[in-house]
Amino acid sequence: MQALLDLEEKISVLTGAAKYDASCASSGSGPGARGGSFRSGGLGAALLNGVCHSWTEDGRCVSLLKVLYSNVCRFDCAYCVNRASADTKRSSFTVKELVDLTCEFYRRNYIEGLFLSSGIFADPDIVMEKLIETAKTLRTQAGYNGYIHLKIIPGTGEKLIREAGLWADRLSANIELPTDKSLQNLAPQKSGKVILGAIKETFEAGAENEEDRRRIKFLPQGKFQAPVFAPAGQSTQLIVGASPEDDKTIIGLSGALYKKYALRRVYYSAFIPVGTQGRGGISDPRLPDIPGPPLVREHRLYQADWLLRFYHFTPGEILDDKNSFLDPHIDPKTAWALRHLEFFPVEVNRADYETLLRVPGIGAKTGRRIIETRRSRSLSFDGLRRLGVVLKRARYFITASGTFIDRAEDPRRIRRLLSDADGAGLQLPLFEF
Ligand code: SF4
Repeated sequence: MQALLDLEEKISVLTGAAKYDASCASSGSGPGARGGSFRSGGLGAALLNGVCHSWTEDGRCVSLLKVLYSNVCRFDCAYCVNRASADTKRSSFTVKELVDLTCEFYRRNYIEGLFLSSGIFADPDIVMEKLIETAKTLRTQAGYNGYIHLKIIPGTGEKLIREAGLWADRLSANIELPTDKSLQNLAPQKSGKVILGAIKETFEAGAENEEDRRRIKFLPQGKFQAPVFAPAGQSTQLIVGASPEDDKTIIGLSGALYKKYALRRVYYSAFIPVGTQGRGGISDPRLPDIPGPPLVREHRLYQADWLLRFYHFTPGEILDDKNSFLDPHIDPKTAWALRHLEFFPVEVNRADYETLLRVPGIGAKTGRRIIETRRSRSLSFDGLRRLGVVLKRARYFITASGTFIDRAEDPRRIRRLLSDADGAGLQLPLFEF
């Protein structure tokens, strides 16, 4: 009985301690990514401690057990509830406890996957070994085929990063703060160089694995198949608002990470003031004194990130020296359009796909539908509406067979009309804009 209570307490402490890490969406790992039974759906999972919901790239909601192996940490990152100097209850799982817990939740259909991270309770390689052992035991002994996301502990050696990718669907090394200067100030035991080194190593291991598998594919049937290295790729997290960098720096960094290391996702996590929000700490003079997490800013960064990944914008087009912060009142695509009225109006019956993507209110899906539909007939505004174009935004920037609804001649007027001053719709950016 005592052991059961201990385990319940551990679950409560170690799922509570994990909830501030945003980088857990299981996008990119479709059903059977490892040939297993990656199931969809879940039963009342929101009621359980540590079960979080994430969204795949196709908008499907999945539930994950999000937990720390241990919240004991030698590091003292100012923004973290688990930092060494925080007065908080500490606990650690054993590998067996975590394996049993994951399997139990999975069998009961509470979860579809595991997101596992840890405080740095020992040398980084020792901590990483525990995370790997958990994933490996799940795969090789417990018959678990669900999704696994492993955090790469800062300072982990290359060999262990390569091993982690053989058991996990996704790996992530959190950059946390966008510049080395801020890391030195708020997380002095961390180094940007080391974190970027882990991201690079993960990228290279994935590329080599792909190459190996391509070669092996040509071997005769029945030969050994190389395992897939982290099939859902890698992601990272940036904390927004704990340090003074502008959005231009953050989006510039994200753009470089997508381009250089093919990251699947950068997650933006609005800084939650540690001392003032009752997260079990003493307020730290190095941290900004803000009333609450900057959620509107976080939301705009997700929208700008969407422009990088799906709308072929470059960081320099989204923000520049004159506009180094995203407009809180208007989405970044509309903000770009209002700065580039010379680009408009776009004639929807003639424009190519790339040009259509630049129009506020036309997304990737509706852009493709426009191209497809106009092969057989020319499009009117009613037709555009039926295809899913958001005319509330697009009307100022398009013509249909030369006709206008409204003309964007005065950017201030359009800005006023399209402004959502409260940062409306703080949902994940799964919509097209
Ligand atoms: S390394 Fe830093 S961010 Fe990670 S658990 Fe320790 S104190 Fe928190």
